[in-house]
Amino acid sequence: MVYIFQVEDVLSRALKAAERLGLYRDNYTNLYPLLKKYGVKATVFMISDAVYSEEFMSIDQVREVSASGLISIQSHTVSHVQLPDVRGERLETELSHSKSILEGITGKPVVALGYPVGKTNSAVASAASNHYLYAARSSGGKFTCGNDPMTMSRIYIKRGLSISEYAALIN
Ligand SMILES: [Zn+2]
Repeated sequence: MVYIFQVEDVLSRALKAAERLGLYRDNYTNLYPLLKKYGVKATVFMISDAVYSEEFMSIDQVREVSASGLISIQSHTVSHVQLPDVRGERLETELSHSKSILEGITGKPVVALGYPVGKTNSAVASAASNHYLYAARSSGGKFTCGNDPMTMSRIYIKRGLSISEYAALIN
């Protein structure tokens, strides 16, 4: 509960687009109500096969949060395999099927990929660029315009971060 209040406080102060690398059902039960309350938007990178698991958002929940306009559903591959470990047809399937499945559920374009565990390499980034406009790692710091959009760096926000720590990270 303390964590939720910390998030509320951060959201109410920052009131800026929050990007959350996430996929579990708590995106629906915890995150979505906060976004509605404060009118803040977020991106959820979704494993397309996860819609069939109780742990994750269901198809109906994915459709609902996407239709709200508050949560952008983007791809986190089909199975969450680390992409540098696969190639050829398997790599293509992870990139293309996840996109088409999520687009089929939401009716909206899926233009971004979150690399599982943030792992990528030049071959993976090149293959991803055939399907996506952007692809994000899970860390690496601030992204600056002009940097490669297929290896976007991000700031990792760990669970339980204090408000002052959060402010220091984004300043
Ligand atoms: Zn992941």
